[in-house]
Parts: sequence; C-alpha cells; structure tokens
Amino acid sequence: MYVVFLGAPGAGKGTQAAEIAKDLKLAHIATGDMFRDAQKKGTTLGLKAKEYMEKGQLVPDEITVAMLLERISRPDCAQGVILDGFPRTLAQAEALDKALAKQKKAIDDVVYIKVPDAELIKRLGGRWICRKCQTPYHEVNSPPKAKGVCDKCDGELYQRADDVPGTIKERLKVFFAQTAPLIDYYTKNGKLTEVNGQGEMAAVRKKILDAVKKGKPGRK
Ligand code: AMP
Repeated sequence: MYVVFLGAPGAGKGTQAAEIAKDLKLAHIATGDMFRDAQKKGTTLGLKAKEYMEKGQLVPDEITVAMLLERISRPDCAQGVILDGFPRTLAQAEALDKALAKQKKAIDDVVYIKVPDAELIKRLGGRWICRKCQTPYHEVNSPPKAKGVCDKCDGELYQRADDVPGTIKERLKVFFAQTAPLIDYYTKNGKLTEVNGQGEMAAVRKKILDAVKKGKPGRK
C-alpha cells in the first residue's frame, strides 16, 4: 500500500504520518528527514541538499527521485509506505508512478492536509523538534513540560534552520508554485482526498485514517 501525504510546510504531515504509519504498519519515509540526516552525517548528498534547504528551495528532482526510489526499494518498505514530503513536483510524481508501474504497483491514496496560510506561519514560527525522537512541539499550542526538553525521551529540542520568517515565506511560495499542482494531478486520477488539518491532532488523525480506508473494503 502506497500512501502520499500532501500539504504545505506546517500542515502536520510529519506528525500525522509517524502515527498513522504505526497504525497501518507501513514504513514512514520523509524526504526532508533523509536530507537532514545526510547533512548531519556530512555526506556529499547532505552538503548538496543544504544549499537548497537553507534557502527554502527544493532539492533538484534528479537527486531527490534517485534517493527516494532507492529508499523505497529496501525490505522495510515491502508492506508499503507513507510518503511524507514526496512528491513535491509534477516530475517527481510522474517518476514515482513510472517506477511503481514497472513493478505492477501504484499509489493507492493521496491525502491532502489543508491548513490556512496564517495558521501555517504561526505553526512553523513556534515549532521546536526533539533532536533524538523528532517529536514536534509548539511554544504556545503544545509546549513541552520543561523548556527545551522532550517529554517523551528527554532529548534536546531545537528549531529548524529553515523555520525562520524569510525562509518560511519562501517555502510556502515554493509549495504553492511547485507542489500545489499535484492536488490537481491526483484529483484527476481519482486518488486524492482533502482533509481539514485544523483542530485537535487526534481528530485530524481520525479523518486521515478514514480517508485512507475509504472505499477499500476489507482494509482494516
Ligand atoms: P520538510 O522536512 O519536508 O519540510 O523538507 C525540508 C526541505 O527538504 C525542503 O524545504 C526542501 O528543501 C527539501 N526537500 C524535502 N523533500 C523534498 C522533495 N520531495 N523535493 C525536493 N526537496 C525536498
């Protein structure tokens, strides 16, 4: 089962994908996390990606597609995956469809998590993330019990380098220019369900789960 989570930065894709992947026993693949990991390790890929990430721009398709296709070919993806942050361009979506078709597979569902722009900016500006377990917090909406410390694993919380006002604005611009056309692409092929990403996390999660299970008799 292949599921794509589509949404602007700050829509909650990562948080929801992590939980839902556990529920559905799927691998959770986040291309942004893969790039950050490569940066931490100081690999050539990481250094290349950094040039684009710090400006809020997309890493070129050929780099991103090759990384993603290699990743989903690994054994832990055999039962299927939730793709979080990929595809982000039409060329990436087409490359993914083509690669899956070669294996007689296809994307099953696309969930577009929609959140108004003003809310996205508020969420990203106040976001803190655990270095160890990646749990996200918000300084106003969902602060940790102790400042700077993860409630779950005691890890250190940090703010992403691209969660600063100028870069947030650029990332949103990039989303609407390059990624939003995918809403149309996946609507036309009947795969897309739009979910309102505002409100309690658990309520949004239920709506996403319903969207993924919708019309799929037998799917638990
Ligand atoms: P994210 O963690 O999903 O917000 O991604 C952080 C950054 O990683 C983005 O702003 C891009 O620079 C880069 N990135 C992540 N996924 C992709 C993708 N599918 N295509 C191109 N760049 C990506």
